[in-house]
Amino acid sequence: MSGPAMHDPALLRALAAEVGTPFFVYDAALLRARIARISRLTAAPGIQARFAMKACPATRILREMRAQGVWIDAVSGNEVLRARRAGYSAGAVPPEVLLTADVFRDNALEIVCRERILPNLGSPGQIAALVAAGYRGPVGLRVNPGFGHGHVAACDTGGPSSKHGIWIDDLLAQAALARRAGLTVALLHAHVGSGPHIEEFDENAARLVGAFEALLPSLPEVSGVNFGGGLPFSYRDPSDEPDLGPLQRILGDAHARFSRAAGRPIRIEIEPGRFFVAPAATLVARVTDLKSTRTNDKGPGCDFIMVDAGFCDLVRPAMYGAFHRIDVVGSDLGPERPWAVAGPLCESGDVFTRDAAELIEPRFLPTPRTGDLLLLHDVGAYGVAMSSNYNSLGRAPQVWVENGVASLMSRRETLEDLLAAECDQPLAARVG
Ligand SMILES: *Cc1c(COP(=O)(O)O)cnc(C)c1O
Repeated sequence: MSGPAMHDPALLRALAAEVGTPFFVYDAALLRARIARISRLTAAPGIQARFAMKACPATRILREMRAQGVWIDAVSGNEVLRARRAGYSAGAVPPEVLLTADVFRDNALEIVCRERILPNLGSPGQIAALVAAGYRGPVGLRVNPGFGHGHVAACDTGGPSSKHGIWIDDLLAQAALARRAGLTVALLHAHVGSGPHIEEFDENAARLVGAFEALLPSLPEVSGVNFGGGLPFSYRDPSDEPDLGPLQRILGDAHARFSRAAGRPIRIEIEPGRFFVAPAATLVARVTDLKSTRTNDKGPGCDFIMVDAGFCDLVRPAMYGAFHRIDVVGSDLGPERPWAVAGPLCESGDVFTRDAAELIEPRFLPTPRTGDLLLLHDVGAYGVAMSSNYNSLGRAPQVWVENGVASLMSRRETLEDLLAAECDQPLAARVG
């Protein structure tokens, strides 16, 4: 068999019978190979990879990262605690876990203070809040370098329209403020994203080298510089693997130049999310129905494959018009023709086949039969992580496949799970 073990039709049918549909299936060998690619890229001394765990925060995945020496970038107090439970160390020396939050919410400040997690600060208010909470020690400062590119316009990661980070011209003034308040600026960080091409990531990284190099002489306590995540993954053609050689040279060059400029070793970090995990999981749905509309004066008719997975399981197509490859697993498939693939949610936007303008874009697929399985590929990043309980369906189970053996990573959520946080508890607050 040429594809990953998780796509074996007999395995998928047996899993569908055992855990029900829809479900997510992860391939251990494929994930480990992805992590190994980044580990090789960052193998030189002074270069460190983190996993932006928001992309896929399951304990199983975090353990795989840790086993290959990858550190963590977390976004919330709870993400820090998930990383800790997966075995990552607390403390800022070395800073195995970095907390990059635009806003300190819930337990985030408390966790930073208690676990001595390196906080990555993106605004004057965050500096003040941290100091007010009693924290004294190393911090990172997240910079908005004035440029950047997300995978879609709504995800701009740098530039005047981006909410992230401290504007680069204000950085040294903020660093001085932080220092006077008892904080040590130990890390400079920028996440400029990539857009869809590795060349653009490389270009952004190269521009950042210049921007950071100019700041370093004024920041004598910096020991690390982080170039963010955003390594692209080609959702339309995963065989179109980017050449990481140029990036490896840029990182190595940055390490040498920064260390020379600073007169001490400066650790260089990157923190990909999707690149590590995107192809390592597939969402498996059951075809429940085929149906059609007819052309009228409002527009052309459309043929729908109805499946039992919806945007509660995978929101990227509905949210950004994101493309995921689709395959049908059936023993008696009919001819290929354009199909829209739609889910169970009471929302007309619950369609997986969309174009970049988020309009329905039927896809050439073989004609399935009711009961066949339909695979949505490359959902390891921002799949389960962005899933919801919309329509009270309960989040789908996650299955791990390793050496031909399957195990359950998380079971399907039940009605009891959905109701567990509901209560009828009197509160002290009164009107007026
Ligand atoms: C989301 C995010 C990442 C990861 O982005 P990918 O596109 O998944 O690689 C890395 N760093 C920060 C600060 C982020 O917000």
